[in-house]
Amino acid sequence: MTKSIEKTPYIIGKTGDWEMVIGLEIHAQVLSNSKLFSGASTEFGKDPNQNVSLIDAAMPGMLPVINKVCIEKAIKSGIALNAKINKFSVFDRKNYFYADLPQGYQISQYKDPIVGEGSLKINNSNGEDKIIGIERIHLEQDAGKSLHDQHPSKSFIDLNRTGVALMEIVSKPDLRSPEEAAAYVKKIRTVLRYIETCDGNMEEGSLRADCNVSVRKPNAELGTRCEIKNLNSIKFISQAIQYEAERQVEILENGGTIDQETRLFDTSTGETRSMRSKEDAHDYRYFPDPDLLPLELKDDLINKIQNDLPELPDQLVERLITEYGITKYDANVIVEEKEYVKYYENAVKNRDGKLVVNWMTSELFGLLKKNNFEFSANPISPEHLNQLVELIEDKTISGKIAKDVFGIMFDTSKSPKAIVKEQGLEQVTDDNAIEVFVDEVINNNKDKVEEYLSGKEKLFGFFVGQVMKISQGKANPGLVNQILKSKLK
Ligand code: ADP
Ligand code: MG
Repeated sequence: MTKSIEKTPYIIGKTGDWEMVIGLEIHAQVLSNSKLFSGASTEFGKDPNQNVSLIDAAMPGMLPVINKVCIEKAIKSGIALNAKINKFSVFDRKNYFYADLPQGYQISQYKDPIVGEGSLKINNSNGEDKIIGIERIHLEQDAGKSLHDQHPSKSFIDLNRTGVALMEIVSKPDLRSPEEAAAYVKKIRTVLRYIETCDGNMEEGSLRADCNVSVRKPNAELGTRCEIKNLNSIKFISQAIQYEAERQVEILENGGTIDQETRLFDTSTGETRSMRSKEDAHDYRYFPDPDLLPLELKDDLINKIQNDLPELPDQLVERLITEYGITKYDANVIVEEKEYVKYYENAVKNRDGKLVVNWMTSELFGLLKKNNFEFSANPISPEHLNQLVELIEDKTISGKIAKDVFGIMFDTSKSPKAIVKEQGLEQVTDDNAIEVFVDEVINNNKDKVEEYLSGKEKLFGFFVGQVMKISQGKANPGLVNQILKSKLK
């Protein structure tokens, strides 16, 4: 759920403050049944080498054929990220040797990517938004996987992932803290999930990030960066950035310099370590893939995709604020997942927007978290939450009793009306009934009444508490106050 972004946190060193500069390269797997240039399946979790066509295995003479769905989804993602769609783009070969890359090159886009500059708004709890620049999005093939832990002396290769379409989303170096980087990744994931171009599943590797980190004195020139490869959780991204920035500050403060290099994050120690010195573009000898023509897009296609775009998270935040009167913070929490919005809009019908959002974000999310439940396993239907809020609004039950009812709803999936009826939890709003409680409290506490009447006004709360207690929490608190006041004159 949305976490707040503090104002720019500097690293405080011996020589003063240091600012972190972060740019992310996010690899998002395109949601598509088949691969970028072959008809092989992209299904996750299959046995090794089940999803491999002759093209993916790089058999001689095979020709790649571009997958239209992947092109359309890249365009859709570009539009959703406010980016320029390049009507002319080129697929290049990026040459390198790796055991799990049978072609000996990866088909990627270099000088002419399908999507150019764009931007993304990230949100924080102070109500301050920040715009993060996006440099480009290009399409490329994923590589296979080497398995080194299956046999004492052999390594195995699994080509299921070989050739799966990835969108590489490259940010400008606009991020200034691990929290901002985390918010950026979350927001990218939210947007891509809304438009169904990537499932955003980080555990399955559908979304992973390379983090470029450098440090500098506030407002100085950009420092030399290191790139931490292939982080697949938001927690690791934050940890790796923090560690790496501190490592660089320490080197610089001891008079050293930063070598531009590619580093790995060790999830067990929380440290980064050198993997290789930075490679340059010319090391890969990029050239246009002679098997593929340049990709030329027609305005019709781009316009159609634009017109079919669903409501995007930022638009939704605005709508939820105006339509239901909730705060921007709450709107951002709800908008994080499409399912939350759907649930909220079903639960809020004819009810108070703020009340419903509070029940959802504090009580419901709290219980789900405590019980380790995914939202999809939520035992409380939106209709039942709606009914619960109705019972509060029409004063059938108090807010306090509602919490107990909510707990039972969570455990049993029963409707709140049924629970209230079964357990006789209706709030007492009958003046006469409350008067009986009040009289009892007054009779049992004559000494305290004396003290109260002679000026010890603080005791009023005590009387309210006593009345609530003997009514088992069911007396309407407003009426209790009113009746107590008139009787204690
Ligand atoms: P490459 O393709 O060699 O990795 P790019 O120029 O495409 O290089 O940059 C990759 C990423 O590095 C981008 O996300 C960019 O924002 C980020 N970046 C560039 N310079 C810096 C810097 N000095 N500090 C931190 N990040 C940087
Ligand atoms: Mg890079």
